Amino acid sequence: MGRAAPETGRGSRRRGTARGGALLVAGRHVLSSLVDVVWPQTCAACALWIPGDMGLLCPDCLAEIEAAAALPACPRCGRTASPLTMFDGRCGLCRHERHWNVAGIARIGEYHIAPLQRMLQALKFGTPDRPAAVLGQWLAAALRRQPWIAEIDVLVPVPMHWLRRWQRPCDHAQVLAEAVSERIHIPVHRSAVRREKYTRSQTRARSATERFRNVRGCFEPARRPAVAGRNVCIIDNLVVTGATLHEVAKVLRQAGARRIWAAVAARSGFAGDREVRIPTTNPAEETG
Ligand SMILES: [Zn+2]
Ligand SMILES: [Zn+2]
Repeated sequence: MGRAAPETGRGSRRRGTARGGALLVAGRHVLSSLVDVVWPQTCAACALWIPGDMGLLCPDCLAEIEAAAALPACPRCGRTASPLTMFDGRCGLCRHERHWNVAGIARIGEYHIAPLQRMLQALKFGTPDRPAAVLGQWLAAALRRQPWIAEIDVLVPVPMHWLRRWQRPCDHAQVLAEAVSERIHIPVHRSAVRREKYTRSQTRARSATERFRNVRGCFEPARRPAVAGRNVCIIDNLVVTGATLHEVAKVLRQAGARRIWAAVAARSGFAGDREVRIPTTNPAEETG
């Protein structure tokens, strides 16, 4: 009995703790429901109301992104492409392109996927926190599928010119890079490359060649880029012709980066992107 009494006491304490735990869970549930009523959570993509325990996307947007992310993509250019059309690790479209200056691309899906497009718009022009969290999660998942993820030493977001930063709610590539970094635990090196020239928006360029001309020479390595001998993954929200990635990768290579890949939230096509041919002075620029 001398031993039984303390056990009974512990049992009571356990039951008391269990009751306390259940009350706490019930309390949290009530509080969460109240928060849902007073301040309903909305889908990060379409802004429809969703219960608080569903995450950040409504079932429809989640299904659309899941389906887009599951489509096979060309490991070199990120375009959606059937494995049957791949030859030598490239799809039919990028097989003859010379402008890709990165070894491979990870992407979530194509830009025409509505929830992806809406979140990218919100990341660029609206409230970035929740779209960045969702896109960061999906882009981290896309990166985990790449055989080169273990080789990445550092993530480098495409830099924004200070004047453009002043016009926007955030530096979207940097916010995205930080969200990805949180999940894959690879550091972000935000000041490896500087954007020296203020250029007009790429969306105004009428041809792929014009997009390349628009960004040509607008990046420079930072005073201490700290990428020498390191493998880099460039982070951006969107790749259309690859012009920006090409220029950033060129500067990183000049700064001594060893291997360079890219991870972008979305891939978009561009009429005429087959025709673009960018002459280079250094053949090494053309190799990943
Ligand atoms: Zn939605
Ligand atoms: Zn391709």
